[in-house]
Amino acid sequence: MIENKNISYLRIRPCDSDNEIYLNSRAKEGTSAFTLKPELDIDYKNLLINGFQTISSDIASNSSAWFIDDELINTKINQNSKRLIYRYRGIKENALEIISRYKPAIVLIESLEDIEFFMFLNGTTNFIISKYVNSIDDAIEAVKRGVHDLFLRDWSKDQILELQSKLSIPLYERTILSPLLEVNEARNLLEKTEFTNFLQTRNVRGYKRETTSWYPGSGESIPNLFNFTSETLSDYKASNFDNILKNFQKTENLNEKDLLDLFKTSGKYINQIAELANELTKNVHGNKVTFVKNRNINYTNQCYYKCGFCGFSKGPQSLDLKEKPYTLTPDEVLNRTIEAHKNGASEVCLQGGIHPSYTGDFYIDLVKKIKSELPDMHIHGFTPLEIWQGANTVNKSIEDYLQDLKEAGLGTLPGTAAEILDDRIRKYLCDDKITSSQWGYVMEVAHSLGIKSTATIMFGHIDDLDSWVNHFQLIKNIQIKTNGFTEIVPLPFVHMGSPIFLQGKSMPGPAWDEIVLMHSLARIYFYNTIDNIQASWVKLGHDGAKVLLESGVNDLGGTLINENISRASGANHGQETTDIEFISLINDAGKIPYLRNTLYTSFKNLESVSSENVIKI
Ligand code: SF4
Repeated sequence: MIENKNISYLRIRPCDSDNEIYLNSRAKEGTSAFTLKPELDIDYKNLLINGFQTISSDIASNSSAWFIDDELINTKINQNSKRLIYRYRGIKENALEIISRYKPAIVLIESLEDIEFFMFLNGTTNFIISKYVNSIDDAIEAVKRGVHDLFLRDWSKDQILELQSKLSIPLYERTILSPLLEVNEARNLLEKTEFTNFLQTRNVRGYKRETTSWYPGSGESIPNLFNFTSETLSDYKASNFDNILKNFQKTENLNEKDLLDLFKTSGKYINQIAELANELTKNVHGNKVTFVKNRNINYTNQCYYKCGFCGFSKGPQSLDLKEKPYTLTPDEVLNRTIEAHKNGASEVCLQGGIHPSYTGDFYIDLVKKIKSELPDMHIHGFTPLEIWQGANTVNKSIEDYLQDLKEAGLGTLPGTAAEILDDRIRKYLCDDKITSSQWGYVMEVAHSLGIKSTATIMFGHIDDLDSWVNHFQLIKNIQIKTNGFTEIVPLPFVHMGSPIFLQGKSMPGPAWDEIVLMHSLARIYFYNTIDNIQASWVKLGHDGAKVLLESGVNDLGGTLINENISRASGANHGQETTDIEFISLINDAGKIPYLRNTLYTSFKNLESVSSENVIKI
């Protein structure tokens, strides 16, 4: 018997029609894949648009993947091997020829009698052994004998859950093409509609996406949770999962290989990661949960950069989305800051589009203007992109320009414009923006001058798990040198108004479980390095942020007032959370609310505050 570590399954059935009623019924049942009948004239594109993938026996037809049979032994096949499924019919010589020639990703066997032959072959050629199974007993027997992947026809969710509970091995749902194909691979191989379908039917880890009415920025309640997780149809844990967690308890260190393995986790195993993160949060912060009273001022939404994900900018290349172009004058920015100050804000967060008329002097003058009126106001301003562009336009080095900003009164830098710090992904997400190393360089120089910053990660668009690891690693490497990051802020991608999503080129944000994983693993990976992990209520809603207070998060960010950027991408969680709302959210979670300053150096216990009043630190 082979000991499999994780088993995948595909919910597949023959396609009888392409009409909407039929497709809606199949989708409700959970079918994700169709086999195409040659005698029916089915509209393949319509199946894709409705979220299905297909397997065809006709290698010349349009399909997500193809069956290859012994008859094709002498046919030249140009399709990528990951889209080929060899249907074994019992002739070993043919199997040897077909496997060595076409290297199909999957071998579909009919009988368990054949398993030993293919397990033997699998030593030299890599493929997945799949089998149709009709009952729970069938499935258990197939897995016991060494089958890696189950084809399930007309199985209900309850049957799958029962199988999951009876198998001692994690069972996860896949689509025909994912996780077999990675995003960059799929972009190169698939037609436009196929690629859109590929992205929208998977989550970042590659498992089949479960549809829920909740997604980042939706304004809906988060899905029903089993402890911390919502996805029930996909369980996954790396083979060394238990050892990684045990080892962390001993060493308090998580290396990047283990981080990658933990990011793959799905289903109930995520709870173990969240519980560890919660334990670590308590070690550092006890029951204390913080927030800052601040105001966001986005001085312009006009921008000459072309970040594919950005629903906020209204440059010449942008789509006609809901916001109109605007630019605030420095006086208007000052007036908003004065208003915020009167309301008790200790910080203004200044960032915006890169307006074609802005030079580095604009940012310096803005800081001076605010500081001359309100010397105590902390200015948390300007992304590394604004710093890069500002320095360039006044012909200064990054160091000299940052020094000028500091002298003008700049307090800290926001860690935005990071998106995902992996140039493989940035190439398709924000090609003309600064590179990962340029972002890191600005931060390193800022920290060396005593300007601290936050660090963000935007996830759930076209990213992959390697990019999450690379992003974390880059931040940790800088932190080890500078100790200049005050917090990590994971930002789940809000897709609804985002051009890249509207063009069919991105996933619709991360799944809820991935949000739990991201915050929990940020806590674990940055333990002893960066103490504060923040949840973004703008993207998650209050109920989402509250759950994360038990899985690694100790800070809820700012009250904001006039949050524009997420809203422009379609987020519905409002523009402001009042201090009293924060306090009751934190109290409800059984924690103690504290107002903090930007740098986490000054705190005010708000336990006894029970009525709406202006709070200042
Ligand atoms: S993310 Fe920033 S730099 Fe990119 S287009 Fe939007 S406003 Fe411009």
